[in-house]
Amino acid sequence: MPDTLQIVNPANETVIASVALATVDHADEAIARAKEAGPAWRMVAPADRARLLRRFAEAVAANAEELAQLETANMGMPIGASRWCATGVADVLHYFAGAIDKHTGSTIPVAGGIDMTFHEPLGVVGLITPWNFPMYMASWKLGPALATGNTVVIKPAEITPLTTMRLGELALDAGIPEGVLSVLVGTGAEVGWRFVTHPDVRKVAFTGSTAVGKRIMSGCADQVKRVTLELGGKSANIVFADADVDAAAAGAPGAVFDNTGQDCCARSRVLVQRSVFDRFVEGFEAAAAQLVVGDPTDPATAIGPLVTAAHLAKVRSYTDGVRATWTGEAPSGSGFWHPCMLLTPDDPSSALWTDEVFGPVATMIPFDTEEEAVAIANDSVYGLSGSIWSRDIGRALRVARAVEGGALSVNSNSSVRYATPFGGFKQSGLGREHSMHVLDHYTELKNVFISMT
Ligand code: NAD
Repeated sequence: MPDTLQIVNPANETVIASVALATVDHADEAIARAKEAGPAWRMVAPADRARLLRRFAEAVAANAEELAQLETANMGMPIGASRWCATGVADVLHYFAGAIDKHTGSTIPVAGGIDMTFHEPLGVVGLITPWNFPMYMASWKLGPALATGNTVVIKPAEITPLTTMRLGELALDAGIPEGVLSVLVGTGAEVGWRFVTHPDVRKVAFTGSTAVGKRIMSGCADQVKRVTLELGGKSANIVFADADVDAAAAGAPGAVFDNTGQDCCARSRVLVQRSVFDRFVEGFEAAAAQLVVGDPTDPATAIGPLVTAAHLAKVRSYTDGVRATWTGEAPSGSGFWHPCMLLTPDDPSSALWTDEVFGPVATMIPFDTEEEAVAIANDSVYGLSGSIWSRDIGRALRVARAVEGGALSVNSNSSVRYATPFGGFKQSGLGREHSMHVLDHYTELKNVFISMT
């Protein structure tokens, strides 16, 4: 019998489910089934594959409330955010259904004939996802992987598997053939690593921590296996004095505290031009105090618990004994609660300033010049997301071009739209999710020359 894992609601520490953990043997069986299903799946006519993906999307939309409730119970995500994610999963699947017959090759005139290019599916792809946005992250990979004719084995983070398991059932109900999509709930060390080492898995698409991403990348090197990585972040929120400072301050707490800070795009380093620093801090604190913390099933709640006791201990290891400029409320009693905090560190080289804390902790420092702001923003091993707030469009564009980050926004804290590319510079990742660009990461480009002689 396989080992089982108890699934715990982080808001109240009750056990909500018990799941059997897959082993390496189970992974091997699922990979073999995916390999077997591959030739038929890649030959499904594009319009039919699109229809199946749309039916999958419609099944998700029809079951969105159940998925949202499961996510909230398993991960502690406030229900409003879980509902947004469930709708987002359906939207992502619809987008990639529509992309299938638009990912076209080209014909290239050459001497003596003509060249044609084809986007060939890779075969079996192994998808590994994190616990912070379980179903949403799964859809970012399932959509393009299936649309391009690959078969898939997916391993959610074992502590938050429930919505991905349900997505697997909905895919089958929608008519996605057996073997095309298998969900394996297992540990990273066993099942995740098997995706890396198994010779029939042609690509690993990973979202998770930079430390694990590095290991996966080096494991894939052995077989020159395709790999894409969506990793950590420590994004900067840069506010110039010429911005709508009140709007920037009002949005800044949500930009780091949403999902209790467990967000790769969290703008956890706030850089504010010195002349408006005090005013900004005041606005930040006022807005942060409005965020409702507590029961994640209450639609009014903005901030829930952290995901596990172990993660709470990790966040506390950063914040224990630290003097905060502002500290929010947090429920006492059961659950993995950590208050939201604003820190204005004296030492910007401290771990709080440099590490991805992945908790509800904002750090804020003043800057004087545009050049200094860019230099501070880029002084990080990460380069994922971030914001620039300024009414001077020239400055906003200069800074957006200079900041090393893959998903930036101006006068906004938005990072993710399925029609636009998303991904990291530097140690925040390799490759892109979303948009037509991601389709190239799930296909090989083949060139065929046809002689005209
Ligand atoms: P993690 O790296 O601990 O785990 C991610 C996944 O990898 C899990 O499914 C885990 O079981 C698996 N895993 C662990 N060890 C493995 C191994 N040796 N081989 C194969 N698989 C293994 O990350 P996490 O704590 O679940 O997620 C949080 C991290 O994810 C944060 O760093 C966050 O920034 C990052 N993240 C990035 C993005 C992005 O798009 N850039 C999105 C969400 C989360």
